Amino acid sequence: MKKIILMSALLILVGCGTKQIDIPSFDERVSESQINESNETEVVIEGAKKEDETSKQPLETQSATLTVAPGMENFETYLPTLMFHYIEDVPADSPDQMRYNLSFSPEQFEEFLIYFQENNIETLTFWDIKAILEGEKPMPEKAVMLTFDDGHQDHYNEAFRLLEQYNMKGVFFIITDKTGNDPVHLTWDQVREMAAAGHEIGSHTVTHRELNTLGVEDIQAELKNSKQKIEEEIGQAVISLCYPVGRYDERVIEASSEHYLFARTTESGKQFRINDPYRLPTTRIFPTTGTGALDSWLK
Ligand SMILES: [Zn+2]
Repeated sequence: MKKIILMSALLILVGCGTKQIDIPSFDERVSESQINESNETEVVIEGAKKEDETSKQPLETQSATLTVAPGMENFETYLPTLMFHYIEDVPADSPDQMRYNLSFSPEQFEEFLIYFQENNIETLTFWDIKAILEGEKPMPEKAVMLTFDDGHQDHYNEAFRLLEQYNMKGVFFIITDKTGNDPVHLTWDQVREMAAAGHEIGSHTVTHRELNTLGVEDIQAELKNSKQKIEEEIGQAVISLCYPVGRYDERVIEASSEHYLFARTTESGKQFRINDPYRLPTTRIFPTTGTGALDSWLK
């Protein structure tokens, strides 16, 4: 609310139609499409004043705005959001049981994709959700969201490769301090390639610290700086966040709502609710999860 008033005041100061207010923290690397999006932001903020009276406001961040279409204000849908960590083959008797438990083999992953293909199940990103909420796209009859946490190399080598092969989409939550710095993580070139191919890059913060243990300033830095870094690297807005280790509290939700449109938790559930966009549930995938589970979730 305070922010909208502030932005409105800014608008009056600079006059509508100029580009003064677009993404102040952005540099010249922002693409043309990004700039177009900020124009859209101006229009929507104007609308926000009207909507204010009915107490419904669009969700707004520095680089993206969600304007929920009439009738979609309480949109809720069944949407299994699967959570993957490593797409790699780790033997069940591996001495590293933690790694085993976070793994899912490329062969199993491909079986999932074949299942989605055979059953006409669409793989959505948060950009699709945004388009659905804005009335630009219908909600598919059957859909799933595939999310990948931590930005490991195998997300490029295996997940991205297979998703491309089956013409499906994933949401990749990356840790910006690890990206391009730690060899087990993605490089920025890989991230850019994935984003350009239509996969969503979301934030998993700068350092992967548990946000509920941090002070407000550090929470802000983790959320804001990671988003800004990814946006600079890929030239697209970042609209989704995933809380490291699933940890958050009210302060984290408050900060998330300033920078993101959606945030995924690690809590178990399959219902997407626009009324609770910073507490979206997920479905953990275990190395033993088979396509039989998909039958019960998706048929
Ligand atoms: Zn993580």
